[in-house]
Parts: sequence; structure tokens; C-alpha cells
Amino acid sequence: MPTTKRPRTRIKDLLALEQLPVPNDPLVVMGWVKTVRSSGAVAFVQINDGSAFADLQIVVDANCPDYALVQRLTTGCSVRVTGILQESLGRGQRYEILADAVALLGDADPEEYPLQKKRHTLEFLRELAHLRPRTNTFGAMARVRNAMAFGIHQFFQQRGFLYVQTPIITASDAEGAGAMFRVTTLNINDPPTRNGGIDDGQDFFGRPAFLTVSGQLEAEIFAQSMADVYTFGPTFRAENSNTSRHLAEFWMVEPEVAFCDLDGLADLAEDFLRHIFAHALQSCPDDMAFFNRFYDKELIATLESIVAADFERMTYTEAIAALQSSGERFEFPVEWGLDLQSEHERYLTERKVGKPVIVTDYPSSIKAFYMRLNEDTPAHRQTVRAMDVLVPRIGEIIGGSQREERLNILQSRMAEAGLDQAPYWWYLDLRRYGTAPHAGFGLGFERTVQFATGMQNIRDVIAFPRTPRNAEF
Ligand code: ATP
Ligand code: MN
Repeated sequence: MPTTKRPRTRIKDLLALEQLPVPNDPLVVMGWVKTVRSSGAVAFVQINDGSAFADLQIVVDANCPDYALVQRLTTGCSVRVTGILQESLGRGQRYEILADAVALLGDADPEEYPLQKKRHTLEFLRELAHLRPRTNTFGAMARVRNAMAFGIHQFFQQRGFLYVQTPIITASDAEGAGAMFRVTTLNINDPPTRNGGIDDGQDFFGRPAFLTVSGQLEAEIFAQSMADVYTFGPTFRAENSNTSRHLAEFWMVEPEVAFCDLDGLADLAEDFLRHIFAHALQSCPDDMAFFNRFYDKELIATLESIVAADFERMTYTEAIAALQSSGERFEFPVEWGLDLQSEHERYLTERKVGKPVIVTDYPSSIKAFYMRLNEDTPAHRQTVRAMDVLVPRIGEIIGGSQREERLNILQSRMAEAGLDQAPYWWYLDLRRYGTAPHAGFGLGFERTVQFATGMQNIRDVIAFPRTPRNAEF
């Protein structure tokens, strides 16, 4: 049948047509059935092919040779439809297809297919990660996530940043940003031993190796030669934290910029977040309207206000003062020198300023050794040029700093932290040869998607979440 040879048209492209095509030749569309209704002499089939939020309505007249087949179609079947595009008389859609032929590609037994027409809970759908992309929520999620990933590359590429790929397997631990997963080829049931312990020398790399917690240190290498770079890749944390904001495997965006200080980095972070939110709103309007309607009624208004206005900035010392004078009862203590907990972060961004806030200049004692030391602070209140970007509902979305470029200070900070300098020989070399001021941050991609879509749980913004005791699919 020649019609089967016609190329498939995406539903998105059909729905975007300004007017009916001239000549209006038969088209082929394929997709998965959402619903089927028949009323007397005509059947209506809603199909979706993932290209758009909207379904396409297929009208099948009783004279169509495939009418009997169409009446047996059920939710989840895949079909190929040939027909003519026409203006729809029904409400809710501009165009529909008047079918000449409908072929069943794959059946979905209605007695067994788990995604029936009714609404399912997000928890239930998590158990069905192989089918949930067919739902409105996870179809929209997949498209918004895609748009935001594209927006990230677009932002940096437009500014002349180089995309570098840092390793996933690493022998350094990025100052203990988090607990690490070990990578080994040793027989864990009977490992080789030496001096009473496991003989790491016999492991694949001749030393212990891990899944990376951050690409920062390697990105710094490239910043010290290419000036403006970023990484965007998977990172891993073996913390046993079962929260709505933590994954064991998540994606991180890490720009690293030479000849940049903390103020420049904060400006970059603001522009960056504004760009990706604007891009999601602009390129996925139907999906974003759906999230706004079903998950957070303030979503689009919040994102639009973020795109339009400057973020607030305050130092850690100012943040502590604001928390102490807030009159709030916090679960965790608020005291200069202690880290901010999620409840503190949320108070600052949600209640104190009512928009994103960038907190800078944290105590050196609670931050990593590579963050640049502020010199003008008293020794008992020593701070570093660190920043966290906090947003409502989520808290920390970005963590970053100006890096310590002065060799002697970096070495004494490592000594204070009790770090062996030997494995960092190459990191220290960067300060020995042509050291340059530089700064960088890490943005958690899933937390950003969570923020942009209003989803409560981080497990619902990544296709196949990895969390403690869960790696199905
Ligand atoms: P938190 O204190 O919220 O656990 P962190 O300070 O350990 O985060 P960083 O090491 O600064 O996180 O990582 C940079 C960014 O990566 C964070 O701002 C956050 O957006 C994201 N991130 C960190 N840990 C996780 C995780 N386990 N799952 C998802 N995103 C994460
Ligand atoms: Mn952090």
C-alpha cells in the first residue's frame, strides 16, 4: 500500500500549521492511543506521539474500512493513521485528521495495561518508570527537561564558553563534596590482601577509584588554559539521604571562569538562571501551562518575576543576623560559624526577601579548602569567597566560589584541612605556573527542573531516579 511509504508527520508540526496545507494530501501520523469514543456512526481517537503536549484527534467515519478495528482500540495501543487534515469542529483542538485508514501497530490489553485513563499518583507512576513518559505529566517533564538542557548549552555557547567533558571515574574526591561510590574490578568476595588490608594496587587502576562527585577540579584545569568553560554531566553522591531534593545520581552544570571574581560569578549565575527559565517558558508553553495548572498555581508568575528582576544578595554574616532577628523558631541553631540548614535557607528566600537570594562569604571553617580566603576579616571570623544561590521551595540550587589562586595560602588551607598534598600535585601546579584568578559554580540540574516545573519530589524530574535501595530500570 503506497500510503505506508509516506513519511510520518509529527503531531507538533501539524498543530503548528498556520492553515491547512495546499494541496491537502493524505498524511501519516503515528502514536499511542489515549482515548477512544464512538458515537453512532463516527469514532474519535485521541493519539499522542510525544512531540507535543496536545493529543491529535482522529475522526473515523463508519464507512472507513478500518472502523471495526478502531472500535476495538484501547488506551495504550500504538497506531498508524492515514488521512486528511481538517479544521476541527469540536472544542479544544484546531485541527483533526479524518482517517482513510487506521492500522494497529501494537496492542495493549486493557485488562493488564497499567496506565488507564484515570489519574494516577506520582508514587504509583514511579514504580512504572518504563511507562510513565506516556502520561501528561512525564511527557511534559521530558520536554521541559530537554528544553532546559538545550537552554543551558545555548546560554554558554552564546557567551563563548567551551563545553568540556570531565571524567566520570576519578581517583580524587573533590574535597569530599559527598560520600563516593567506589568503582572496582576486584573480586569483592575474595579481594587480594596486603599488609592485612585490601591490596588496592591490584585493582583496575592500581589505586582506589570512584564515581565523581563533581567535575570542578578538572574544569579548573581547562579554565586555566581556555578561560571560559563549562561541564554538564552526571555526578554521584553515595549519601544515604532520602529527601525530596537528593539523588544518588544527578546532573550538574559547572562553569569555571578565569579572570573572574565572586561578583562576576554571581552576575553569571543570575543571568544563567534567568536564561534557562525564560527558555523553558518560551519553548514549552503548553507544558508549562500544564504544570502551572496541576502542580503550582503560582509557577509561571514566579518564574516570570525571576526572569524580570535582580536577585537579592547578602553576606552570610548578614544572613545570620537576619535569621537571629526573625523571631522564627528554627529546629536547628542559628549561630555565626554554623552552616545554614534548609529551613534557614528557605526562610531567607521565601520570607525575608521573597525571591532568589545569593548568600556570599561563608566562614572558612565550613567550606572547602579551595575557596578563596578573604583577608580583611578577623581570624576568629575568617570567611571565604563562597556563594550559594537559594530559591523558594528548594533552597540551595547553586553552590560556588572564587577559587584560591595563591599557592602558599592554598597549601596552608590544605594543611589546616588535614589533606595530603601529594595527590593534588596537578591542582597545585596550576598555581605554580601562570596562576590566574578564577571562579566557578555547580548547578544541580534536577533541582532546577524541580523549581521550574513545581514538582515536589526530585524523583519525578529525572527519568530513572537513583536513590538509596532503588535502581530499578
Ligand atoms: P546540599 O547541601 O543541598 O545537600 P551540597 O552543598 O552538598 O547540597 P554541592 O556540593 O554544593 O551540594 O553541589 C552543587 C549543587 O548540586 C547543589 O547546589 C545542588 O543544586 C546540587 N546537588 C547537590 N547534591 C545533590 C543531590 N544529592 N541530588 C541532587 N542535586 C544535588
Ligand atoms: Mn553546596
